[in-house]
Amino acid sequence: MPELPEVECLVRGLRQQVVGWHTQRVEFRRTDLREPLATAAIRAALCGHRLETIARRGKYLLLSRRDGQGVIAHLGMTGNLILSAQSEPLSKHTHVIFHLTRGRQQRALQFIDPRRFGRLAPLVAQTQHPWLQALGVEPLSHSGLARYLWQASRGRRVAIKNFLMNANIVVGIGNIYASESLHAACLHPCTAAGQLAYRDYQRLTRAIKKILRQAIAAGGTSWRDYRDVSGKPGYFALKLAVYGKQDQPCPRCQTPLSASKIGGRSTFFCSGCTKILPSH
Ligand SMILES: [Zn+2]
Repeated sequence: MPELPEVECLVRGLRQQVVGWHTQRVEFRRTDLREPLATAAIRAALCGHRLETIARRGKYLLLSRRDGQGVIAHLGMTGNLILSAQSEPLSKHTHVIFHLTRGRQQRALQFIDPRRFGRLAPLVAQTQHPWLQALGVEPLSHSGLARYLWQASRGRRVAIKNFLMNANIVVGIGNIYASESLHAACLHPCTAAGQLAYRDYQRLTRAIKKILRQAIAAGGTSWRDYRDVSGKPGYFALKLAVYGKQDQPCPRCQTPLSASKIGGRSTFFCSGCTKILPSH
């Protein structure tokens, strides 16, 4: 599943490749993604207009023209946006094609999504879309993240890993990055969020920002099927310390790593150098 670093890499690639291009037409080959697509409104939002801004909020991509109208997209489980020459053959999972032009040049931006959990909708203005209303803060750009998380967690008995993965609190910390950040901060994923001290959140926040930045620098790493905007595979360069490494030695203390399900998601941790804090 694409996570924040992959979406951020895609946004950066699209920014270089499609800003300044005009949408000539939008072709729909299927309209039954996670929700039925509002085809007429999507066409009206883009056709004949120049793409001016490509942005990310959480794992949503916002492609908009100068007045803020445009489209909002989410890649779901298996979605991607791939730029191709107009003449290249389409994937059988290409559901929407944005035909772009700049002068005489032509390109196709394909929304590809084998499992069709992706979302696409017209955008009236960037801050007003209902999909964005309940989203928590951005982990990379929020300057007071440690204090915010510490305050939001007071009195909460939920496991810190589930707390971090709650997109209504903070966006973009998926399963892999939650396990990795907690391990880097020497915190056990099952500890109640409300038990952690402010200094724990300071350490955790530093780990989250560092790991997300490394993953972005590596070109998006967590997702096996990741392709960048030109369809090339990602670099897979982020070295994971604990995720997927059950029974392998902890890089910090050599204890064999443990795996369990927390909130229904696979979780990897070290029972040697991280401990569950006792509840009061
Ligand atoms: Zn350890």
